Amino acid sequence: MSAVVTYWAEHAWLPHVNGPVVERDVLIAVGPGGRIAKVTPDSGPCPSGAIRLGGLVLPGHANAHSHAFHRALRGNVQVGSGTFWTWRDTMYRFAGALDPDSYLELATAVYAEMALAGITAVGEFHYLHHAPGGVRYDNPNAMGEALIEAALRAGIRITLLDTCYLSSGFGAEPTKPQLRFSDGDADSWAERISELKPAEHARIGAAVHSVRAVPAEQLGTVAHWAVMRKAPLHVHLSEQTAENDACLAAHGVTPTRLLGDHGVLGPRTSVVHATHLTDEDIHLLSDTSTVVCMCPTTERDLADGIGPARRLASSGCPITLGSDSHAVIDPFEEARALELDERLRTRTRGHWTANALLRASTEDGHASLGWSEAGRIEAGSLADFCAVALDTVRTAGPRPALGAEIAVFAASAADVRHVVVGGRHIVRDGVHQLVPDVPKALAEAIAALQ
Ligand SMILES: [Zn+2]
Repeated sequence: MSAVVTYWAEHAWLPHVNGPVVERDVLIAVGPGGRIAKVTPDSGPCPSGAIRLGGLVLPGHANAHSHAFHRALRGNVQVGSGTFWTWRDTMYRFAGALDPDSYLELATAVYAEMALAGITAVGEFHYLHHAPGGVRYDNPNAMGEALIEAALRAGIRITLLDTCYLSSGFGAEPTKPQLRFSDGDADSWAERISELKPAEHARIGAAVHSVRAVPAEQLGTVAHWAVMRKAPLHVHLSEQTAENDACLAAHGVTPTRLLGDHGVLGPRTSVVHATHLTDEDIHLLSDTSTVVCMCPTTERDLADGIGPARRLASSGCPITLGSDSHAVIDPFEEARALELDERLRTRTRGHWTANALLRASTEDGHASLGWSEAGRIEAGSLADFCAVALDTVRTAGPRPALGAEIAVFAASAADVRHVVVGGRHIVRDGVHQLVPDVPKALAEAIAALQ
């Protein structure tokens, strides 16, 4: 395979039989179709004709759980007291102001912010389907298609996790703000989502909003849709103890057990948060090889609690990471939070290696979104990667052997200098090549909602 474009990485984090290693002077040749044709470590100085990427090159991060419009809440919800539930009322007010045009503008800016942070694929957990009052747009998928278009404009991949959301709680009618989310029943949801078309940068997956929002007897319809298409299936799970209490009252079982009993769990399923689990829940998730998506910056922002990520991983559940409410968008911060939260809880260090945290943020995240051919810098993989500068105030300093630790435990989104998606150089020297002024785009899109 002949190279279409060749990158040269000062350092790159590469897969190896004994676990990932950081190599020097790595040539990454990208072939047709935006896939990596060849990776050559120790290649010597950057040859003429290759694009030089200084610092440490990592696979692109997968943001496995996003609600793009929550970005509009940043800084607007950090006053006063309250709970997850009072935060949700504010979130509904912003949701009520969006239409397909304004959501396209906002999501383009948010996905561009993600690109600047080194994120090359997003799992958009999308439930804002219809016009206020639940009125159908002429194109009932106008909102979802706006998100797919937004990812294209921002240069990143998207898995649109089109979400079934029918009830305000265990069969009760949706409340007024929730009418925009509901298709009426799961069959109508399946009919609508089946019209969504994938694209080179976009794949379609399914989601159950939660056991609150989809009545138990309709969970199987959503699971069946995903199984038939071998599509990813995501679901919010036990972020709040109130959900567990209500599920026990309604069904006499935990939310995890209810999902298991209706065929929702399995290796193509990601449960999001999984904060408040019983021992039996953890066994059920590991027995079904279910993926667990943690969103640590959101979970701490919303005072959810610390989920049992380490126990789940040790039981065999792949772990992924998402920025969810976008309190911040920083995949390095999400990754190290798994370890740092565990340190606070246990008062001991060393639960996760930097390599394991990076794997959650890259390879396992991509697989959970249906992009199993991305997330590794090796021949045959999609050429999606980012370069973290090692000469900033956060990352500067000599170190005897370079590993992933400096990136995972000290770098921030602001240290990402280059991002490549499908071989295309979408962030160059910290500047987005498709959305030239991302802060301005964010400011204008959010101002339009206020
Ligand atoms: Zn969420």
